Amino acid sequence: MARYTGPACKLCRREGTKLFLKGTRCLTEKCAVERRAYAPGQHGQSSGRRRKASEYARQLREKQKVKRIYGLSERQFRNIFDRVLKEPGVTGEALLVALESRLDNLVYRMGFAVSRRQARQLVRHRHIKVNGRTVDIPSYRVRPGDEVQVADASRELVQVKLALEQFGRSQPVSWIHVDTDKAVGKMTERPSRDAIPIAAQEQLIVELYSK
Ligand code: SF4
Repeated sequence: MARYTGPACKLCRREGTKLFLKGTRCLTEKCAVERRAYAPGQHGQSSGRRRKASEYARQLREKQKVKRIYGLSERQFRNIFDRVLKEPGVTGEALLVALESRLDNLVYRMGFAVSRRQARQLVRHRHIKVNGRTVDIPSYRVRPGDEVQVADASRELVQVKLALEQFGRSQPVSWIHVDTDKAVGKMTERPSRDAIPIAAQEQLIVELYSK
């Protein structure tokens, strides 16, 4: 299935929680989840009166939520899950680490873009380098020690400058180090679950895909 390109706020309302799909803009804009606290669509306002969600429904919603946070299609998400299934350790945690290690996510976490959506565009348009080489694949897997930077010629882009300004006022995750003056960042270590600021019950996703 193709990637969703409609309004980001609609997805948050569908999941009934703030997914911060517009990144730092969500902190300054009026949030649709707060203004209209019900699901979108014709039956949205009456959906809250439905009976208690089944176990399957909870698992499905959790998967949809995480998939939407990272802006992935079902196939992309499933492929990542199948890959981490072969890795040692806790599958749910490995899934989140794999999602966080995507280049588009790192570009967002390092403050070069205000959202993952914008970060993906920067990567695709060849504005990003990894270890000195241009990489235009958003799903590229960044490893601890890798250096991610905005290409010299792209540092003057208004969107990059604005994003870095906002990043300076935020609290970055502990496992990356960023030099905002040079627009370069490094993934210093593999993040632990505690260091990934995503409010998700990843075990529910593992259960869903293990059926
Ligand atoms: Fe979601 Fe941000 Fe829109 Fe709020 S403002 S509904 S958090 S995308």
